[in-house]
Amino acid sequence: MNVSARIVDGTEISRAIRAEVAAEVAQLRAAGVVPGLAVVLVGADGASEVYVRSKARACREAGMHDRTLHLPAEVTAEELYGVIDGLNADPDIHGILLQLPLPAHLNPKPFLERIDAAKDVDGFHPLNVGRAFIGDPRGFVPATPAGIMEMIRREQIPTQGRHAVIVGRSLIVSKPLMSLLMAPGPNAGVTLVHRHTPDIAPFTRMADILIVAVGKPGLVTADMVKPGAAVFDVGITRVPDPADPRGYRVVGDVDHAGVSEVAGAITPVPGGVGPMTIAMLLRNTVEAARRDAARTRKRDRRRAAP
Ligand code: NAP
Repeated sequence: MNVSARIVDGTEISRAIRAEVAAEVAQLRAAGVVPGLAVVLVGADGASEVYVRSKARACREAGMHDRTLHLPAEVTAEELYGVIDGLNADPDIHGILLQLPLPAHLNPKPFLERIDAAKDVDGFHPLNVGRAFIGDPRGFVPATPAGIMEMIRREQIPTQGRHAVIVGRSLIVSKPLMSLLMAPGPNAGVTLVHRHTPDIAPFTRMADILIVAVGKPGLVTADMVKPGAAVFDVGITRVPDPADPRGYRVVGDVDHAGVSEVAGAITPVPGGVGPMTIAMLLRNTVEAARRDAARTRKRDRRRAAP
């Protein structure tokens, strides 16, 4: 019996990344560029509002410019397109993030596609999805899978020839993670299972690296995990808890106490994958600002040429 899994501390790792980002921002500022992130929030959604506030605070702490546009739930499609177009054209904004979910009358797809791919730091524009899939570094990889890969690297969790099993098939987390893990470099073998897999346990038990991104507390229990596996719990669900002053607590998809007895390493919830997401978003925004500055320099050189 394993004593207890090593806790992969996302808060600690993300703090290191945010310090690196702040140093890069300082360099860019010295060259006259202040990376700017705009977050568009439509309607009132408690969890989204908390998340958006955390992003804004993280931007300011890193020395970046942040702008939150809070639009009413009744906003029309035309108005929302107008807001996105304005941000696309704004030279102070290098990254644009449309906070999901949108109210039911707005299908997110055309709005995500309206965002300039060069400012799509969330990596949801089809051009960036495709670039990430083919391993083209000009794309932006969505922050959560990028954060998981960064944890794997910094924790030196072996991937080459190992079997990674991903539970869930979302475009935000699981699909990009699948291509990142199997790409040259990590070189993992990857299995992805989802809602329609009749029994996920035979697959999860084969995983050297298990990533669970579903949103169902207690989905993965100790008997479903291979001894020594590295387990990444992406799920974030609020469950009622009268003992907590907020009336709820946040849990993942993995039975943390039980699985910790079997796994070699495990991320906690909260404090695991979550903090990494914001850190990687900041990193994408700094990268967008750097690319924008390079494009501007190139254009200026062309104009100045005789
Ligand atoms: P999502 O889009 O709802 O995807 C969940 C996936 O799980 C879907 O593919 C769904 O299948 C599948 N699924 C549902 N029930 C299942 C079951 N019993 N067994 C296996 N697969 C099942 O959600 P998401 O955006 O990927 O997020 C997943 C969880 O991670 C949520 O709790 C979310 O809050 C959290 N999250 C956390 C972070 C972070 O920073 N830590 C970031 C993003 C998301 P269908 O495709 O058939 O619906």
